[in-house]
Amino acid sequence: MITRSPTPLQRRQTRETTPDTPPSWQDQLAGVIRDPRELCRRLGLDASWLAGAEAGHDLFEVRVPEAFLGRMRPGDPADPLLRQVLPLASEAETTPSFVADPLAEAESTAAPGLIHKYPGRVLLIASPSCAVNCRYCFRRHFPYDENAPSRAQWDRTLAHLHDDPSIREAILSGGDPLAASDRQLAWLVERLEAIPHLKRLRIHTRLPVVIPDRIDAALLQWLSSTRLQKVVVLHINHANEIDEAVIGACTRLREAGATLLNQSVLLRGVNDGIAPLAELSERLVEAGILPYYLHVLDPVAGAAHFDVPDDEARELVAGLRDVLPGFLVPRLVREIPGEASKTPL
Ligand code: SF4
Repeated sequence: MITRSPTPLQRRQTRETTPDTPPSWQDQLAGVIRDPRELCRRLGLDASWLAGAEAGHDLFEVRVPEAFLGRMRPGDPADPLLRQVLPLASEAETTPSFVADPLAEAESTAAPGLIHKYPGRVLLIASPSCAVNCRYCFRRHFPYDENAPSRAQWDRTLAHLHDDPSIREAILSGGDPLAASDRQLAWLVERLEAIPHLKRLRIHTRLPVVIPDRIDAALLQWLSSTRLQKVVVLHINHANEIDEAVIGACTRLREAGATLLNQSVLLRGVNDGIAPLAELSERLVEAGILPYYLHVLDPVAGAAHFDVPDDEARELVAGLRDVLPGFLVPRLVREIPGEASKTPL
């Protein structure tokens, strides 16, 4: 079973709360639901779901924040948010071409925590854990233990960036980079902005969606004060994920100077229809987020039940063009290992 426990730092950050004070984001992160039995119980699922949930959990552990759980419909196993996080017995099935490392990231790992796939930009694994474990995640088998750099390794990574003037952009990824503490992130961003040829800081995160309280004053402090141009790429797959708290978090990010984009994954049973995709785009733009990419599923072992064939994906996006203005139609793409950028379908 893949288990990502709270880091010692996250545990230290857990603060005392009283019934009157809302839990801090650190408490919310430390308190995510990690028990498939509790997930099924809290959502009032029929007992028949439990065996599958436990079997899937043994392969990739359950993690669901309360704030995300609160947007699901109790008693409905087809809820589009629940489907993204509910383990199923079918995750143990072997499907030809669905593999542990579908993007061949092991071949692009230049140093611990540093993935250099594309020219001009590098990806830094800023945190080995996420607030939520999405069942379709292409990194569900990623060896995070081998990619948790020490300070000395970070120094070598930063020296690598310093010595390569072609690198214009640093992408903070994970796990979820915002699962790291603000102290760690501020340290890293301060060093990145000292690299003169670095222009942009991109942050790939789902935390503002699943724990909107993560976007707090401490985060906004380091984010708003960096000289780097800031792009936050959110990951939202269904309109129901965007509630008022998420809109508030997005507003704070924009006020700190960040451009907000969204990437979704096309997922069977979650958003595989013109109506849900159109509603998602409408809701994103209401929250000040531009729809950017719609990814077809990366063929990761354990996630084949989410797959939507390419022809169907193209038809859906063609249908979106009929009902939405062009700027609300995301680009349909696939990531192919070895290609210099995402491949449009
Ligand atoms: S938040 Fe992102 S990195 Fe984390 S499990 Fe979900 S898809 Fe994967």
